[in-house]
Amino acid sequence: MGKVLIIGAGGVGTVVAHKMASIPEVFSEIMLASRTKSKCDAIAEKIGGNRIKTAQVDADNVPELVDLINDFKPDLVVNVALPYQDLTIMDACLETSVSYLDTANYEPKDEAKFEYKWQWAYKEKFEEAGITAILGCGFDPGVTSIFTAYAAKHHFDELQYLDIVDCNAGDHGKPFATNFNPEINIREVSQKGKYWENGEWVTTEPHEIHKPLNYPEIGPKESYVIYHEELESLVKNYPTIKRARFWMTFGQEYLTHLRVIQNIGMAGIEPVKFNGMDIVPIEFLKAVLPNPGDLGENYKGQTSIGCRIRGLKDGKEKTYYIYNNCDHENAYKETGTQAVSYTTGVPATIGAMMYLKDLWKKPGVFNVEEFDPDPFLEELNKRGLPWNEKHDVDLEL
Ligand code: NDP
Repeated sequence: MGKVLIIGAGGVGTVVAHKMASIPEVFSEIMLASRTKSKCDAIAEKIGGNRIKTAQVDADNVPELVDLINDFKPDLVVNVALPYQDLTIMDACLETSVSYLDTANYEPKDEAKFEYKWQWAYKEKFEEAGITAILGCGFDPGVTSIFTAYAAKHHFDELQYLDIVDCNAGDHGKPFATNFNPEINIREVSQKGKYWENGEWVTTEPHEIHKPLNYPEIGPKESYVIYHEELESLVKNYPTIKRARFWMTFGQEYLTHLRVIQNIGMAGIEPVKFNGMDIVPIEFLKAVLPNPGDLGENYKGQTSIGCRIRGLKDGKEKTYYIYNNCDHENAYKETGTQAVSYTTGVPATIGAMMYLKDLWKKPGVFNVEEFDPDPFLEELNKRGLPWNEKHDVDLEL
């Protein structure tokens, strides 16, 4: 049915390649391209059946991307490289008139901001070119935004309080490791907290607000308010929201390591001189930390991510909780990666499927909640991430 170019061969790229390869009726031709071609080749070999073509590409380089796209002629480019490459890949898509999908918003290398403004600025250009950009189609952002859209469509007349809750109750047996790219992950969790309340952003110290929350099949876990990028588009697209927060669980051991890393300057994004060379501390740290793609083998336990929502239905207050639990061991058995890569790669695959089936196709730049959530959530149930909903529950918040 369609040709897809996947860019990025890390943990998430591995899952996207596996999942797409298993759905030949939708993904008839697949190319996996990344900075290091041998990683693409290893993934393609593991999948087998000559399902995946591979290529080398520097996604920071627009002419290289344009050549690759012109050569392969995909219907859609799926960007699961790093957020630093979002704009160059979008530029190449514009130049070749090919639609675009990603899982994380653009971030300049020298500024940890997590804002959509750079990508939203492409809206008119994508409209004029008649192509679609689907932004943030992982789990969070991604499924959490689609859960919110589903709640708004089916269960509420007015969304008022939104709490996105992200629990990883898995254990990989390492004293410290990040579940996805360490540079992006550490930048995200060490920044100041921020949430939306009564029409403005409220900033907190990192991890200042926390409380134990109960997660289904897991139990209570200390959860911390951090800033997460989908809050920006959700409060814009659902202006009735009075308060929107994002909670993530962290273990004490993780937080202690993080504090040390920050206190000694290893989370820094400014270059420092070392033996006459410029070294960015967080890039060096990435080189010595465990590779998130290799954590899967001994990873046990589940993730549980969802949306707890309070609002109005037929003039009455209503509470609602929609969530998915994903098991690290099952994710590993299927794709050789842990659940954090799995829960990102499966939604990216389904988003691509929505585009190829013409269900999520319109000219412009869109966050996922701006599309119909129903066909996406129907597929999510079938493709390894079944979801559950609870009505009139104690949200604990
Ligand atoms: P990894 O670091 O494991 O993989 C990134 C891949 O991108 C690597 O293969 C890397 O190549 C490649 N890459 C980096 N720079 C370039 C470049 N200039 N040109 C070509 N390829 C490049 O990251 P993950 O797989 O863990 O994450 C992928 C994306 O998914 C990230 O943007 C992350 O933020 C996002 N994400 C989103 C989530 C969500 O729920 N929305 C959750 C988790 C992740 P090389 O192998 O040579 O280093």
